[in-house]
Amino acid sequence: MKLIFATNNKNKLKEVQHILGGRFGISTPKENGIMEEIPEEQPTIEGNATQKSRYIYDRTSLNCFSDDTGLEIESLNNEPGVYSARYAGEHCSFEDNMTKVLGKLDGMQNRKACFRTVISLIIDGVEHQFEGRIDGEILTERVGVDGFGYDAIFRPNGYTESFAEMSIEQKNKISHRALATIKLVEFLSNMEVNE
Ligand code: IMP
Repeated sequence: MKLIFATNNKNKLKEVQHILGGRFGISTPKENGIMEEIPEEQPTIEGNATQKSRYIYDRTSLNCFSDDTGLEIESLNNEPGVYSARYAGEHCSFEDNMTKVLGKLDGMQNRKACFRTVISLIIDGVEHQFEGRIDGEILTERVGVDGFGYDAIFRPNGYTESFAEMSIEQKNKISHRALATIKLVEFLSNMEVNE
C-alpha cells in the first residue's frame, strides 16, 4: 500500500520509515506536488492531526497520515500541549521553550508530564486515529545533550536518564511517536491480511 506522510520533516520521515520497515511505500507532500506549508491551526493535538491529513487527502484523494505531538504538564493545566513548538513565542528555540517550562515549574512539587502523539490516518476518505503516550516528569534542570525539543528536561517513568541522555535507538523503542506508529503499523498490517 502507498501512503503520503503529511510531513516535510526528514527526521520524522526516517524514524517512521524505520518502524514501518519498508513494508509500505511512503512519500512526502512535496513529492505529490504539495509545496506549501500544511496548516495546523486547531486547539487540540487530535484536531491538528486531522486537519493535516484531511488537507492532503482533499488535494490528492490518496491514502495518507499525519502526526501531531505535544508535551502535557499536569500542574500547568496540560500546557504547552498543542502549543509545544511555539510555547515561548513564534520562532522561539527549543532552549527558549525549556527555559519557559522550568521557570513556570520553579518551586512546584508536582512535575508530572507526558508526551502525547496522535496519528491521523485516512484510508479511502475514512479517518482512523492512533495515540501514543509516555508518562514521566519534568526535571529541575537540563540533563543530556542529545535529542531535540524538551528532551533534556523530560525523564520517562522507570528510567534514570532523560530523553536527551538516551541513544536514538533507545528513545525510539519507548517514545510517544514510536508507540503511536506501532499502532498504525498493526492496523495497516491487519488491513493487508484482510484484503
Ligand atoms: P510535532 O507535532 O511532532 O512537530 O511536535 C511539536 C513539538 O513538540 C516539537 O516542536 C517539540 O518541541 C515537541 N516534541 C515533539 N516530540 C518530541 C520529542 O520526542 N522530544 C522532545 N520534544 C518533542
